[in-house]
Amino acid sequence: MRYISTRGGTEPVNAAEAIKLGPAPGGGLFVPEKLPRLDPEGIPAADYAALAGTVIKPFLPDFDSAAVDQFVRLAYNSGRFDHPAVAPLHRLHDHLYCLELWHGPTCAFKDMALQLLPYLLREAARLTGESAELVILTATSGDTGKAALEGFRDVPGTRVIVFYPAEGVSLMQERQMITQEGENVHVVALRGNFDDAQTGVKNVFNDGALAARLGERGYKLTSANSINWGRLVPQIAYYYAAYLALRRAGAIAAGEKINFVVPTGNFGNILAGYYACRMGLPVGRLLCASNSNNVLADFFNRGVYDRNRPFYRTISPSMDILVSSNLERLLFELSGRAPEPVRRWMEQLRERGSYRISPEAVTALAELFWADYAGDAQTMQAISDTYREHGYLLDPHTAVGKVIYDRYLGATADQSKTVLVATASPFKFNASTACALLGKERTAGCSEYELLQLLADTTGLTVPPPLRGLEGKPVRHKLIVSPEQIKETVLQLL
Ligand SMILES: *Cc1c(COP(=O)(O)O)cnc(C)c1O
Repeated sequence: MRYISTRGGTEPVNAAEAIKLGPAPGGGLFVPEKLPRLDPEGIPAADYAALAGTVIKPFLPDFDSAAVDQFVRLAYNSGRFDHPAVAPLHRLHDHLYCLELWHGPTCAFKDMALQLLPYLLREAARLTGESAELVILTATSGDTGKAALEGFRDVPGTRVIVFYPAEGVSLMQERQMITQEGENVHVVALRGNFDDAQTGVKNVFNDGALAARLGERGYKLTSANSINWGRLVPQIAYYYAAYLALRRAGAIAAGEKINFVVPTGNFGNILAGYYACRMGLPVGRLLCASNSNNVLADFFNRGVYDRNRPFYRTISPSMDILVSSNLERLLFELSGRAPEPVRRWMEQLRERGSYRISPEAVTALAELFWADYAGDAQTMQAISDTYREHGYLLDPHTAVGKVIYDRYLGATADQSKTVLVATASPFKFNASTACALLGKERTAGCSEYELLQLLADTTGLTVPPPLRGLEGKPVRHKLIVSPEQIKETVLQLL
């Protein structure tokens, strides 16, 4: 299988090359030339690691099959995930199940891909005869950064540089990053929001002169963001895992369609669900759940993508995004895999901050997607209601999804079994979850660590050890820069 660019203009490359490069040359994103078919009913019962191997191998034909088997074993095991199922499914009620993707070392779903990506990337470098040191340049809205740091720390032949919005992440997220250990890692706070970080990083990728200078010094840039195909393909596996878990539980019949609700920011997670559907997973609807930064909800409902709008800092900071990079891959499918319209839309987005698709395209998308958004107050309400009704604690991102699901049910009465993709541990966003359960009075003035304990005492849940362990860890990263300084910072750090 070969990979082509959503904007055309480059020769097809193999999987190793696509993963090593990250974004495609010229600003597009790599997509597989053709999606493989994979009937979930034909997958033998196995653990998560084996399932992941089955799902990703068709995308990596240039990788040795036994090597991939080894990589998935190393990535998805009980030393790294604190649940034997890796991505367990928790029943909320007859129709709704939570797919918990936060049992990895950084307590958010980014671990599902970033525990595996270092193996894929190192193998990709080997297969392509790369001699340069790989520099994983990452923009984060809070969770990708930590997951990349944890995945790549002290991995030979790699360096990691993470830019995060100085005031756009939760205190726990920031603590996780600035205390990061490892000899090959750099964490930089950015005066700006996630979009500034992502744009700055994309500019670095598109700067040929900078790449040449880095090349002379023995470095090659790549990405751990979901613009890298190697980030997306491991995420397809858990959509299959959810379906197979429902089948095993007897909750659905063979081939019965299920819905997924996905809390969405950069459109990576839900796009993996879209690919699973295209590969043959029986999916009815994909519900795209946004917070007040509702640019995607407007896109799906009105056909206009317009980033010219206020940017809100919300209690679901990992979704505080106005430019959702991976939508480009969906646009490519929407245009019948023609690069010209994609190039035009992306140019309009860069120049005017907006573009419009045809009414027919909106209708076509609506067959599979259903999109809406929730504000902070509704999200807080959903956290406390769900806890009261089901004894289950949602993090604020997942709670956005719960609001959207309830609204969808009211609007459509679609009783299909639905999987709510739970993207973070409620302990990672403890200020919001504790406040939702106990009220402002009780939680105001508590430190982050007191809140962890308070949450554990209230719910009987265990504080995830990686979060508890942050207390007392020294701060190792203190650099703060402006968006204009991203390039020179990269040069200085290497
Ligand atoms: C990254 C993230 C999201 C958004 O996922 P995308 O792939 O960017 O759409 C949602 N919730 C949490 C907790 C995240 O870390």
